[in-house]
Amino acid sequence: MENFIDKNRNQVRSFDLLTWFSNQIKSTTKRKKILVICDLDAYSDNLNFVFGEAYKGGSLAAIYLPRLREFYGLKPDESLFHRRIVKEAIHELGHTFDLSHCYNKKCVMYFSNSLYDTDFKGRNFCAICNNTLRNGR
Ligand SMILES: [Zn+2]
Ligand SMILES: [Zn+2]
Repeated sequence: MENFIDKNRNQVRSFDLLTWFSNQIKSTTKRKKILVICDLDAYSDNLNFVFGEAYKGGSLAAIYLPRLREFYGLKPDESLFHRRIVKEAIHELGHTFDLSHCYNKKCVMYFSNSLYDTDFKGRNFCAICNNTLRNGR
């Protein structure tokens, strides 16, 4: 497990985690979509942290919970936390169905730079993303 944990940063290297899981998946299961829910903080490339990451058009997606559990000094809100998990899970799974980021701030495929973005967007695909999802590009 340690090979995808960056001990200096005390964070998961997200891409390495996806690679590790990818190597565990047998070829017969490649067509399925697998969502890894990980209660560890993670980062990717030049991003300080990520809420999740996925292989675009692939079978693997991961979301990371600690940053979704942040309430900035306000009372912890379990229901808000769950809504964030659902949005980020749908977002990452959207990537596995080959969707890219969307410019519509209400669309679940909008890139969340912060929890503000996650809380602002909905859990649904906008009309354009929905169309891409159904008919391809
Ligand atoms: Zn994304
Ligand atoms: Zn969209």
